Amino acid sequence: MREEALKSLFPMMVERRRHLHRHPELSFKEHKTSAYVADILTKLGVDTVVKAGGNGIIATIRGKLPGKTVALRADMDALPIQDEKACDYASEVPGVMHACGHDAHTAVLLAVTEYFISRRETLQGEIRLLFQPAEEVCPGGALGLIEAGALDGVDVIYGVHLWTPIPVGTAASRPGPMMASTDEFFIELSGRGGHGGMPHAAVDSVVAGAALVLQLQSVVSRSVNPLDPAVVTIGSIHGGTAQNVIADTCRLAGTVRCFQEETRSIIRTRIEQLAEGTAQAYGAGVAIDYMTGYPSLANHPEEYERFREVAERETGLSSGLSPQIMPAEDFAYYLQRIPGCFMLVGAGNPEKNAVYPHHHPKFDIDEEAMLHAASLLIAMAEAYQEKQS
Ligand SMILES: [Zn+2]
Ligand SMILES: [Zn+2]
Repeated sequence: MREEALKSLFPMMVERRRHLHRHPELSFKEHKTSAYVADILTKLGVDTVVKAGGNGIIATIRGKLPGKTVALRADMDALPIQDEKACDYASEVPGVMHACGHDAHTAVLLAVTEYFISRRETLQGEIRLLFQPAEEVCPGGALGLIEAGALDGVDVIYGVHLWTPIPVGTAASRPGPMMASTDEFFIELSGRGGHGGMPHAAVDSVVAGAALVLQLQSVVSRSVNPLDPAVVTIGSIHGGTAQNVIADTCRLAGTVRCFQEETRSIIRTRIEQLAEGTAQAYGAGVAIDYMTGYPSLANHPEEYERFREVAERETGLSSGLSPQIMPAEDFAYYLQRIPGCFMLVGAGNPEKNAVYPHHHPKFDIDEEAMLHAASLLIAMAEAYQEKQS
């Protein structure tokens, strides 16, 4: 019955997804997207629609039967990427693109809303719908929604990410840490500029910077348990202006990914120690700007079990254990506060050209995956309510 209902909602899901795909908006700037969603929610007749946390929306559907409160979340923001797809729903905004599938997440949650609205008479408890802005840019939109009360009185939360690395028709999740934490750091080494032919009269910040890049390679290899995945990447190094001038300053920027808070703090300490120690060894000064991003996303084991039971039995998706993956997700903040599960729904399909990784200029999904994602969210919410009653 659920499948039939969703099938009838599918054309609208596709239409809404393509509308959002044509009109993407960057993180923290989802004004039109938010208004579009709020308008649909109001027309559908949800019980409350509240704008919260910037462009976020918290909506509720109260069932006629008693029960718990289940929150379902979709993110809405796009990325600063030029859309290179050749199709009629390609982005109409230069340099901005839904290259992560958040347009589809929004369309999915709107269809889920429609489904529950039409079943209010038999719906247990409350469905809390979270349309979240700014997933792609730290500090993210989740915290703003939480501060606005998105999780007040909520018993459990579920979220999905359409995922092209796995084929359409499959779903995956994982108990405990599934997605990495993400931090960024910026290091500025200050030497003393001078003549390229007279190094003894200068302090070369480029030599200190080059040494530091190599020193930092020892953080993961020497200070982190080899059984605990972690990454330290220096993505950028800049110093100097000319071949015969000793550079006054050298700037490094990097990212840190890992799964355990303890590891995260070890890595931060080691980066700071090596930066200070290397600067000192080369007679340079150092300024470190370390920015803490999203924590690791850790699913609650009980809710992961529910996913395993529900995915195959209720939605027919072939479900499995996801490996740990290094992208980060601010859904992690919800899971730090209440039980829940974040699930990857296969959206890859070579026949529909859905072969590119997320954040690629030709990224696309197999839209059938939206049906699966909606079905999974509904099945999880219903299974949770049934277990409680
Ligand atoms: Zn993304
Ligand atoms: Zn994403």
